[in-house]
Amino acid sequence: MTYATMQDTAVKPIPLRDLMPWGIFGSLMFAIFLYFVGAEQGATAVVRGETIHEYVHDARHLLGFPCH
Ligand SMILES: [Zn+2]
Repeated sequence: MTYATMQDTAVKPIPLRDLMPWGIFGSLMFAIFLYFVGAEQGATAVVRGETIHEYVHDARHLLGFPCH
C-alpha cells in the first residue's frame, strides 16, 4: 500500500455545519413521531378518526403514555 492510497481512504471528519440540516430533520421527524404516538387522541387530534391512534397504540403503551 502506497502512501497515496492510504491518503485516499483516510476518514475525514464531517463538519458540524454539514451535519446540522440532518440534525434538524431528525429532530423534526422525532417530534412528529412523538406527537403521533403520545398526543394524537381526542381533543389534541389533528387527524379525524381513530386510525392513527390504533396504529401507534402499542407504541403508546410501550412508552408509558396515558391512553385508557
Ligand atoms: Zn391504550
